[in-house]
Amino acid sequence: MKKKFLLDEERIPKTWYNVVADLPEPPAPPLNPATGQPAGPEDLAPIFPMGLLEQEMSPERYIAIPDEVRDIYRIWRPTPLIRATGLEKALDTPARIFFKYEGVSPAGSHKSNTAVAQAYYNKQEGITRIATETGAGQWGSALAMACHMFGMDLTVYMVKVSYHQKPYRRTLMQLYGAEVFPSPTEHTAYGRTLLAEDPDNGGSLGIAISEALEDVVTHPGSKYSLGSVLNHVLLHQTVIGEEAIEQMEMADAYPDVVLGCVGGGSSFAGIAFPFMREKLAGKTKTRFLAVEPTATPSFTKGTFAYDFGDTAKMTPLLKMYTLGHDFIPAGIHAGGLRYHGMAPLLSHAYDLGLIEASAVRQTKVFDAARLFVQTEGIVPAPESAHAIIAAIDEALAAKAEGAPRNILFNLTGHGHLDLASYDSFLAGDLQDYDHPEEAIAESIAALPKVG
Ligand SMILES: *Cc1c(COP(=O)(O)O)cnc(C)c1O
Repeated sequence: MKKKFLLDEERIPKTWYNVVADLPEPPAPPLNPATGQPAGPEDLAPIFPMGLLEQEMSPERYIAIPDEVRDIYRIWRPTPLIRATGLEKALDTPARIFFKYEGVSPAGSHKSNTAVAQAYYNKQEGITRIATETGAGQWGSALAMACHMFGMDLTVYMVKVSYHQKPYRRTLMQLYGAEVFPSPTEHTAYGRTLLAEDPDNGGSLGIAISEALEDVVTHPGSKYSLGSVLNHVLLHQTVIGEEAIEQMEMADAYPDVVLGCVGGGSSFAGIAFPFMREKLAGKTKTRFLAVEPTATPSFTKGTFAYDFGDTAKMTPLLKMYTLGHDFIPAGIHAGGLRYHGMAPLLSHAYDLGLIEASAVRQTKVFDAARLFVQTEGIVPAPESAHAIIAAIDEALAAKAEGAPRNILFNLTGHGHLDLASYDSFLAGDLQDYDHPEEAIAESIAALPKVG
């Protein structure tokens, strides 16, 4: 037994992979909104530690994973690569379907991969406290675990409607030792202003981000932390793809297509970028498919332009596929995919034609999730189920062609704390939502003017 664990430990990657080193063109830099000039580390130093800002701007191909971070990864990494034979049989497909299961992390999703790294670099620079926002609570719980392990305090501004609708995520964060406020709160000037206008304000991710940022700049020794979108977050997630390359080799099945759901894009980049390195080197022909909800169609209906990362316009301008920072997503059940933009690095890859994208409706997503539960036994997070429906479509296309195909998708998290959403599905209460073209055009018209 002991030997097996030692062998597993050897298989945890020793470096993160930075795709910037291999892209045919560099991505556009972030801009300081006041000057219109490229934002440097000094623009972001008040809110992020230097260790992470160096990674954010790094041209290096490989960045060593600190031993302290690998020691914690050991709890759930390497994550299993599983062949979905039950699903293959149900679809009667000649395709082989594999999934990389990130739901085995203690907090239940891939977000722990970056949470541990971010907590580590903050701790290294003497930071004693982090403040962040969370929507449905996946990010908050991953960071709560990581902060506690490094002996740091964490304050989470959780969107008020989710705070009341998803009480168990809040319990999990509190159990890990975090302080959780329903946002808007009385703890920030911005929150107090909003509550004075409307005591029943239910909050939004944009408001929660603004409160967390205000908290950080008014509390010395505190920094801010983001669970997706930025380059360093995508970098930390590449452990998923590096492990998968080795595991697919062991299965003697190189993927013809790699798929994943996209919210801010970090988990998809994490599984796709290491395989993209092989393709850019001319060794493989793998396709990459990002799957988003029709309710937040950043890739399929958005515009590639400079925009703010948040509703309150406090972040630097990022060049990304965006629906506009004013975009208000519908209340779909995949809470982790409700973001107005897409990671700049992934947006750049899409613009270069290196990845494909598709959008799916939530009732189809939950149908696919149920088939997966009944054939593979695992309850997927509603976010992850967007990849399942796309994998099923690929497997059915292979069947129609009568040709084999190796499909790999990212199962980013489990859905044990999303059973209320599954309850709505079983009761027939789920509705589909296509974001109206006019609403998209309106928020895109409000994009900041650059250059
Ligand atoms: C947050 C989340 C996502 C979406 O975030 P990305 O940055 O696009 O990966 C997907 N799946 C789960 C389970 C999540 O918690």
